[in-house]
Amino acid sequence: MGMTNNQTAVPHYLKQFSCIGSSCEDTCCAWWGISIDKQSYNRYQTVNHSGMRNKLNDHLTVKKNGSAQDYAEMQLNPETGNCSMLDGGLCTIQATLGEEYLSQTCRTYPRVVNQAGAATEMSLQLSCPEAARVILLDRQAMDFEEASPGDPGILAFRHVTSSGHNEKKRDYYLPQIRGMMMEIIRYRQFSLPHRLILLGVFCDNVNLIMEEKKFRDIPAFLLEFRHEAAHNEELLDYNVFPVDPAFQLQYLNNCLMGVLEDTLWNTRYRECMNDYTRGMKATDASLESILDVYTESYEQYTAPFLDSNPQILENYILNAIYSRVLGEMSQGIPVFDCYRMLILDFAMIKLHLIGMASYHKELSRELAVKLIQSYTKNYEHASLFHKKILDDLRKKDYASLGYMCLFIKN
Ligand code: SF4
Repeated sequence: MGMTNNQTAVPHYLKQFSCIGSSCEDTCCAWWGISIDKQSYNRYQTVNHSGMRNKLNDHLTVKKNGSAQDYAEMQLNPETGNCSMLDGGLCTIQATLGEEYLSQTCRTYPRVVNQAGAATEMSLQLSCPEAARVILLDRQAMDFEEASPGDPGILAFRHVTSSGHNEKKRDYYLPQIRGMMMEIIRYRQFSLPHRLILLGVFCDNVNLIMEEKKFRDIPAFLLEFRHEAAHNEELLDYNVFPVDPAFQLQYLNNCLMGVLEDTLWNTRYRECMNDYTRGMKATDASLESILDVYTESYEQYTAPFLDSNPQILENYILNAIYSRVLGEMSQGIPVFDCYRMLILDFAMIKLHLIGMASYHKELSRELAVKLIQSYTKNYEHASLFHKKILDDLRKKDYASLGYMCLFIKN
């Protein structure tokens, strides 16, 4: 099948999504600096509707060191944290002036558009509740289909990566590496935690090859890894990987409590955190009794729930790899660091779910979607969250694959 320039493989869930507007539980315009591109800003100055023109002018501030894409900022309503142009859950720019007046940011969200060589890749962000539902609940969501992602010309690109035609260079191999990462996450004969550990073995080895600049060895290594994952006794035996729930609980919970104060802003996430802290309350504050609560909640509610809804965390990981890892690697981030960030999010989400399940005495799809959506939204603009924890892991020497296993496995 021939692919035209504008045809590309997109995740199945893209077609399932449409914005639910005023019925949205967590509108996209809440508590973000809403960035306005220069072209939209100029258009807002010449709007015929004088009421709208004045209102826009009142709420727009030109940035000091802005760029064409990030030129001005829309003020937020100090009471609700929503965009000032939002009225009763509806965007007044869209309602009064029409969709073509939306800024690049607003038109693009919740889509992530990446230019990967000649292909345009499109995915959705989990910070949007409706996107979170279509990504996490459907077992087919991360199947890829050939489709036209539409005209990306009007959308804001997140990552632009070169096509890397030179076989001697690192860039050339990045798409293959990402492809293999997604392949490993689909080895469904293993449990998801097992797959994540295999992914770690893979990323650790690729990292070494990259550090030694032996880029041309990558294709052979991919084949070798595929073979190992099917035959190597040690990789096939989940029992050989270390487990230490006390360490997992203590380290992750301390990290979370350490960053929370400065970073918690999203209301839905706050509700999840309240469930979490109440759920983790033990009869006394000793580590042993909290650990009992943790282990019991995992075994009684969390594991059975995840077993009967295996696509939730699998799709979470696949979507993260698809939408961000190529961009990160091509910015020079080592592949094992990309892996650490994936595992950090996975382990944090699991931690929250265990606490929430303990409070509710069950887990539901609604709760899982609410947590993953609001966790993503709360931290996605707090780039310090990941950096702080990764720095701490390095400082304490917890950054190796062995420690990653301890965060993954229960
Ligand atoms: S968060 Fe998603 S569903 Fe909600 S208003 Fe924004 S795009 Fe629409």
